[in-house]
Amino acid sequence: MDTQKITPMLKQFLQFKNQHPDKIVLFRMGDFYETFFDDAKLCAKILNITLTSRDKNKENSVPLAGFPYHSLPSYLPRLIAANQKIVICEQVEDPKKAKGLVKREIVDIITPGSIVDTEYIHSPADNYLTSVVKEGSEYGVASIDISTGNFIFTQINNDQLTAELERLSPKELLVSEENATEIRSSFDPKITLSHYEDEQLDLPQAESILKNHFSLLSLSGVGSFEHPLATKAAAMAISHLKSLKRNDLKHINKIEFYTLGSRVQLDKSTVANLELTKSLIEGTSHGTLLQVLDQTCTPMGSRLLKKWILRPLLEQESIEKRLDIVEELIEKIERTSYLRDYLDQVGDIARLASKLSTGSINPREILAIAEYLKISKHIKKTLDFFASSSLLQIKDNIQDYEEITEKIEATICENPQKLITQGGIIRSEANEELRELHEISRQGKSWIINLEKKEKEKLGISNLKINYNKVFGYYIEISKRQADAVPESYIRKQTLVNCERFISPELKEYESKVLGAEERIKELEYELFCQLRDYLQEQIDSILEFADTIALLDVYANFAQISFLRGYCKPTFNADNILMLKESFHPVIKELLREQKFVPNDIYLDDKESNIILITGPNMAGKSTYLRQIAITALMAQIGCFVPAKEASMPIFDKIFTRVGASDNLAKGQSTFLVEMLETASILNFATKNSLVILDEIGRGTSTYDGLSLAWAIIEYLHTSRLKGVKTLFATHYHELTYLPNILPQVKNYNVLVEKDENKILFLHKVVPGHASKSYGIDVARLAGIPMDVIKRAKEILTELEETNHNEKKEKALSQLQAFPQPKKEEIPKKLITLQRELEKISPDNLTPMEALQTLAELKKILSQDS
Ligand code: ADP
Ligand code: MG
Repeated sequence: MDTQKITPMLKQFLQFKNQHPDKIVLFRMGDFYETFFDDAKLCAKILNITLTSRDKNKENSVPLAGFPYHSLPSYLPRLIAANQKIVICEQVEDPKKAKGLVKREIVDIITPGSIVDTEYIHSPADNYLTSVVKEGSEYGVASIDISTGNFIFTQINNDQLTAELERLSPKELLVSEENATEIRSSFDPKITLSHYEDEQLDLPQAESILKNHFSLLSLSGVGSFEHPLATKAAAMAISHLKSLKRNDLKHINKIEFYTLGSRVQLDKSTVANLELTKSLIEGTSHGTLLQVLDQTCTPMGSRLLKKWILRPLLEQESIEKRLDIVEELIEKIERTSYLRDYLDQVGDIARLASKLSTGSINPREILAIAEYLKISKHIKKTLDFFASSSLLQIKDNIQDYEEITEKIEATICENPQKLITQGGIIRSEANEELRELHEISRQGKSWIINLEKKEKEKLGISNLKINYNKVFGYYIEISKRQADAVPESYIRKQTLVNCERFISPELKEYESKVLGAEERIKELEYELFCQLRDYLQEQIDSILEFADTIALLDVYANFAQISFLRGYCKPTFNADNILMLKESFHPVIKELLREQKFVPNDIYLDDKESNIILITGPNMAGKSTYLRQIAITALMAQIGCFVPAKEASMPIFDKIFTRVGASDNLAKGQSTFLVEMLETASILNFATKNSLVILDEIGRGTSTYDGLSLAWAIIEYLHTSRLKGVKTLFATHYHELTYLPNILPQVKNYNVLVEKDENKILFLHKVVPGHASKSYGIDVARLAGIPMDVIKRAKEILTELEETNHNEKKEKALSQLQAFPQPKKEEIPKKLITLQRELEKISPDNLTPMEALQTLAELKKILSQDS
């Protein structure tokens, strides 16, 4: 476009746009916010508003889309939800007084990771802005939730980055231009990206930014020296917020360093497959562990619970401390329910504190702060009934907030207005001058009302009315017919069709009293409001501490409540590496099943008998459910919740892995065999002896023998390599694998019981030792509605296949095997594997490895009988 030809106003617009090419500029024009060019096209699409053009007929036509300024609160969240960054450009002078072009300024920049206003954040979850700094294969990661003041940072390596970002699930990612593509591609490609301003920030600069912000002399308390990248990332994050005109960040008053080492590691696909916070198919919270465990009373509690679920503890002592608190709360469940009644009355005080800090708080919200703080007393009283030192410590953290609440309630009136500049927010008694002004205004108004009565009687004009409008204030209205009767002192102001409007000196005298008082009231109330806000801003630390304490209590009471109602038990931890669950159930599926009863199951894994179990059974038998329920139970124990079982004794797991075979994996865009193998490889590389590994139908995504061989090799590796002893549950539809316990002593077969008669199969969902003997594929097909004729024919074919294949090939294999020297008894398992490999070489076409192995199993029997 020819910039010479564009209007001065568009020139002004372009100035702002050029400063923020990556953001949508909302350009205030009178009562509208307008957008231009590509911004307009984007807004029209996202907001479903009309795209028009300015100067339609000229060659310089400019795409344009806008909406009324008062619709901003409904449009802004939709732009943010579409991952857009927004610049708000206001008119900063009165257009009537402006000479030429109205002056405009950027008054706000809003990005998905920097929203304070609770109205725009629909979920109670964290709303993180996360900054990532890279050097070599190390990363510094810092996350701020400006809406709650939560600020955390850490330093991690290459392998941990994706999982950590997944866990944080930030709304906005702050990275250098250089690393943007790499980081985005390893995470969510749709996420909003921002680039940091100063690419060359060095450590001393970063430290001074943080010291400045927190008013600290040294950062050694937060561990910055050991973690330079984390420190840089933290400094980037805070300066980024400041660059977005977010200068009031008082509520971000502490920063917490965390290490992944102190928590159980859950990688991306484990979090996804266990459906901890998001369901696999819909991506919503329905049917997730979080949803089922979350009966918290407050948004703070709900946010903390999510954090705990994603970061289970490693230290037995800390876990047991949590469990003991939950136990006491259960013992006194009646008190706990009183406690929860009080917690229910506490709203999102953490987010109100952040609005307080940024100055965007309104009078109603300030009253809400007082209301919530007042509940602290009742909560403290309820806690008197508890004895454990941990609960008493929590109680001691709750301070006396009387001074704050009294001050608020003495200042803000009942049912205050939302606006802070229009009066109607401060109590008369709060200030002597204000009391007088209110009095004057009240008296003046009642005098005016009386005047109407007085004049009616005096003049005998029955329809005389006193009204008010903005143009000439109070006036007397009289119908045309009676207008002749007005006294001389009345001054005519306006003649309408049916009536005349007058003012009188008397009326104007009182009017100026009333209006003068009202003007002054607005001013004074605003001043008093600001004083109160300043005072409260000083109290932010203690308000936030209250919010934290409430969150903690809420999560504990929540654990107690659901554990009590659902019959969860307190897990114990053993040093013998035994995983024992009796009558364990899946906490989510159990809640989801309505008519049906959930069938509880046991598990026992140890170092002596078996640490790997192979589970076979037809589709829909309950294999996946069983696997997941055990992983989820381990996780629940380590976040300090009671667990869904009658009895539970377990080791402490350092990592939990869950993999699901590609064809079983329902998540979109993931169903490639390559992904499955990459993920599995990462288990073999990163698991330790103390991990819990869940493998569900691994190897299914490829042709039978490939998949089978891989699954086989993986189990062998878990059994014998450095991972020897790792607790593993492996569900498989490869019946061939059930041979493995014959050669790998720590592997045991289990299957899920199914009853079958002539025409139907019944799923019992009971997990028992031994392997499933039959493939029920055809029966499942029948259940799915495949016509009877097809089923019948399929059965014939199956029998035929089973018979012919087996006999012919067995003969062949046996004859080939006879060529091998006989192994000694103790050497058999190893020898068998070698034999198998030899066999594969000899007759890859005629005999598949599995068939050979079946034959070998028979051979093994023969050999042991012989000796
Ligand atoms: P598989 O992995 O063997 O194909 P799933 O674990 O997916 O089977 O289970 C299929 C369905 O069976 C589940 O959605 C659930 O409704 C039901 N189910 C599984 N386990 C149980 C159980 N222990 N008790 C009752 N119903 C169960
Ligand atoms: Mg399954």
